[in-house]
Amino acid sequence: MEIIHVSAECYPVAKAGGLGDVVGALPKYQNLLGHIAKVVMPMYRTRFLYENEFEVVHKGGFHMGTRYCDYTIIKEKTNKLDFDLYLVDIYGLLDRERIYSYDDDTERFMAFQIAVVDWISQWQHRPDVVHVHDHHTALIPFMMQHCFAYRHLSGIPTVLTIHNAQYQGWMGWEKQNYLPAWDSWRWGSLDWSNTINPLASGIKCAWKVTTVSPSYMAELKYQANGLEMLFEYEQGKCTGILNGIDNKVWDPATDTYILDNYTSADADAGKKLNKRQLCDEYGLDIEKPLFVFIGRLVGEKAADLLPQAIYDALTHVGSKMNFLILGSGDPAVENQLEALRGLFVGYYNSTIGYNEKLSHLMYAGADFLLMPSRVEPCGLNQLYALRYGTIPIVRSTGGLKDTVTDFGEPDGFGIRFNNASVWDITYSIHRGVELYADKERMTAIRSRMMEIDHSWENSAGKYIDVYKSTMPVA
Ligand code: ADP
Repeated sequence: MEIIHVSAECYPVAKAGGLGDVVGALPKYQNLLGHIAKVVMPMYRTRFLYENEFEVVHKGGFHMGTRYCDYTIIKEKTNKLDFDLYLVDIYGLLDRERIYSYDDDTERFMAFQIAVVDWISQWQHRPDVVHVHDHHTALIPFMMQHCFAYRHLSGIPTVLTIHNAQYQGWMGWEKQNYLPAWDSWRWGSLDWSNTINPLASGIKCAWKVTTVSPSYMAELKYQANGLEMLFEYEQGKCTGILNGIDNKVWDPATDTYILDNYTSADADAGKKLNKRQLCDEYGLDIEKPLFVFIGRLVGEKAADLLPQAIYDALTHVGSKMNFLILGSGDPAVENQLEALRGLFVGYYNSTIGYNEKLSHLMYAGADFLLMPSRVEPCGLNQLYALRYGTIPIVRSTGGLKDTVTDFGEPDGFGIRFNNASVWDITYSIHRGVELYADKERMTAIRSRMMEIDHSWENSAGKYIDVYKSTMPVA
């Protein structure tokens, strides 16, 4: 099958979170299964662009409202990522350093989607599937079915994967003329609660919809930022497929970002060397358990609870542990976390920002990884933690529920709690401190965790099954 993935992110070209990891790995594993998976994404001005060689494969243009956009598609020349990578350049819109958070993101991603559909519409052949990811690309199924110029693509199956349903790309109806001329009888395929809702449109128009874990799929019928009824209605075409991890990138035995490589056989010693590096750098105490958090400092991740939970743990439980935080997001949470540095010198530190290398070192050197998320569609951090022998402390929700069991259960390996509350977090930290004191049990849990296989091989095949379900039985 020829599969075209369309996404706003793809590691290592441009990544802001789990979406980038998934789109950087899934096509690679689909190719290993004998398919031809390709990725199309915007041509941001990131390092990858300047450090690799590209060739121009197409040039075109389209109208978006009153504006005319020229676009250029370039292809990476050496198959460096183990799949064909195409970048879409649109002068004045996509030629930026960051992926998101510009005032004109609506225009940027609308133009990106039109360019992709316009390009595909000029191919001499048809791909077998167009697979779009999250709201930034979720208008493509609508365009392929209801925009007059592209209706000849309507027979190509489309699949939408929802990595996060919190963000839906809402725009006012006054922007309807951004779309290439479309069949106005179909306005209902764009609308949700009197706005154009790209994610809702994708759910309505894509042939199949997937989310990144089975539990998240079930939760969306009750909690989907306003789309609950739509998920209920469309459940027949929806499937939950757990994300995998890219074992080639995330392997403590070969990871070049970490100080000392290790396997499950020598994890205690290997992790200690990495922990020493972290503790030296951040002024922490190597003898005490190290709890880390890596991620976006937003409500979804319950990052707002961290400052109080850490404060309580370090004052009430006593200085029996260290904390190291890496993330960025809500400025109020960033400030509170930074303020703790002055209060708990020697036990607490934080880095505000995005740092891929440091994140790897933290997965390797930490003893526990905190994930108190309110919403977690799949969560990759806990999967990386398992692979690096770091015990995940998670709230029982979404993909966290599907991938982490509590060490109190038979063969359990993590720490689970139910409520996104300061008390549940501090209590779980306390459980972690007690577990850390039992060295033998820690070692046993570590080697059990590191043997769990969350590689993409399995999940990549499940996506192929979804594609096949859109095709006539031979
Ligand atoms: P999200 O909801 O943000 O997509 P996931 O758990 O699915 O959450 O994926 C998060 C990915 O982003 C992981 O690879 C994680 O290591 C990475 N990440 C998040 N924040 C940072 C940061 N500040 N620095 C480095 N990596 C980060």
